[in-house]
Amino acid sequence: MHRDSKIYVAGHRGLVGSAIVRALGRAGYGNIITATHAQCDLTEQAAVRDFLALHKPEYVFMAAARVGGILANDTRPAEFIRDNLAIETNIIHEAWASGVRKFLFLGSSCIYPRLAPQPMREEHLLTGPLESTNEWYAIAKIAGIKMCQAYRRQYGFDAISLMPTNLYGPADNFDPVSSHVVPALIRKFHEAKALGAKQASVWGTGTPRREFLHVDDLAEACVFLMRNYSGEDIVNVGTGRDMSIRELAEMIRDIVGFDGDIVFDASRPDGTPQKLLDVSRLTALGWHPARDLREGLAETYAWFTANAASRA
Ligand code: GDP
Repeated sequence: MHRDSKIYVAGHRGLVGSAIVRALGRAGYGNIITATHAQCDLTEQAAVRDFLALHKPEYVFMAAARVGGILANDTRPAEFIRDNLAIETNIIHEAWASGVRKFLFLGSSCIYPRLAPQPMREEHLLTGPLESTNEWYAIAKIAGIKMCQAYRRQYGFDAISLMPTNLYGPADNFDPVSSHVVPALIRKFHEAKALGAKQASVWGTGTPRREFLHVDDLAEACVFLMRNYSGEDIVNVGTGRDMSIRELAEMIRDIVGFDGDIVFDASRPDGTPQKLLDVSRLTALGWHPARDLREGLAETYAWFTANAASRA
């Protein structure tokens, strides 16, 4: 990838895509193309074919997906499996057909079996049953990985796949129903503080363990691997450290400055008991995350108060 290579970032308005655009800018890449949903509906094959034939990008970062937190996944299974399968099929096939030189696909740590040994290694893919709350999304992401591997084997298409852990950062979705845990808790504690509430409720038991990576770290890993890795093997991207949801909630409560109690609502799902990635493959390639969790959460809270709190 050269400074003037033509690069398409699919999903540039989302948490991950917007971070990839910023990371490419910081690294000096200036020839970046993007498309809004209105300009190119990625679930429509003809739209994707026309868009790629017209613009002929050399490199594609595939950050477009139907995403959401545990409740959204659990309650909208048809949208999660259909939209993701359609987007992946269209982009991977049409990128190959239009002559893209290299393609980067983003999966998720939820592709691993619910009870995979921890930390989860890349080899654990397809070794056991999935977590039921997000199996629709996970199946679609596994299909995307397999498409990349199949197009590499049959056509020599240089498609690589990264598996990010749970992500957070600016420009996330802060909707209380469909968001992931970090933006959900930022918003909940912010509103509880504003109302002077005595307590705020957190879903589940607080015992599940998750690993959190700043999206700017993920984006830098994407640029790094686009430049330095080609292969069929998937690559985990994370910090290699996890924490309980209770510990996360306490950290976010401190950052937001809410001084009420945290109450756990065990009628809500916990999801997978633990999701921690083994990142030794990535480390061996020479990449490490740079951002501190507490600082990253504080930055995300500042983004929320500046951009989203008033619209919440
Ligand atoms: P997951 O990693 O796919 O389970 O994604 P989430 O980020 O949605 O949830 C992570 C964990 O945080 C789960 O155990 C949730 O039950 C817990 N959690 C606690 N409160 C919330 C909340 O308000 N929203 C979400 N999405 N998760 C929450």
